[in-house]
Amino acid sequence: MQMYMRKKLIAANWKMYKTPQQAREFVAQFLPLVRGHDRDEIVLCPSFVCLSAVADALKDTHLGTGAQNMSPEKEGAFTGEVSAAMLRAVGCTHVILGHSERRQLFGETDEMVNLKLRAALEAGLQPIVCVGELLAEREAGQTEAVLQRQCGIAFRNISSAEAARLIVAYEPVWAIGTGKTATPEMAAEAHAVVRYEAAKFLGDAVAQNLRILYGGSVKPENASALMAKTEIDGALVGGASLDPKSFAAIVKY
Ligand code: PEP
Repeated sequence: MQMYMRKKLIAANWKMYKTPQQAREFVAQFLPLVRGHDRDEIVLCPSFVCLSAVADALKDTHLGTGAQNMSPEKEGAFTGEVSAAMLRAVGCTHVILGHSERRQLFGETDEMVNLKLRAALEAGLQPIVCVGELLAEREAGQTEAVLQRQCGIAFRNISSAEAARLIVAYEPVWAIGTGKTATPEMAAEAHAVVRYEAAKFLGDAVAQNLRILYGGSVKPENASALMAKTEIDGALVGGASLDPKSFAAIVKY
């Protein structure tokens, strides 16, 4: 039987926090804390206006820079939007897509996530596609069905070759920014559903190599129990990624 080794990826989602100056200060404090740490991949995802500052500060390091959203369109009269090519041009390597805050607060649909995912892959970015159920959906026993729907639509019309760069983050919405964390077992169960859907739509090899991150109130205190699960291939971290010491402690779980 073939063994698949998936390097864990720890990504910081800074949401709408930090100015370019604050982002540069974070990087200056954070880099010495993770120097030589190559067990895991590390990606910082600041707001659009900080991307250049962060990408420049991370040049010649092993860390990646990611955006938190992008347009599915290449260019045109789309006021306020940012394209995949623009992200690439300022040094982005990754992009978060379909975060629950975008789905809930900005009306992003599964179909829009699919269009953005296809545009990101076409442009050579590494997308981190977020999926996850609401509390009411979990309580109604719908977690599996929600993940199947979100993945089934997101993974439409993607070639296996392109999908090699795909990353998924399972983020139960009730755990984001609430201090509540899914147990490692709950997360591993949800990840198995995502991997099964990936196999169905993208093929076995893509599914076995697919990194599925967990997100939802990851902190230095719970990171090692979560990361100990072989089904959990890393973390997408919000609040606890804003402080360099706290994020470094998570990276070094
Ligand atoms: C997130 O925003 O992706 C997230 C997981 O936030 P937090 O870690 O604050 O729950």
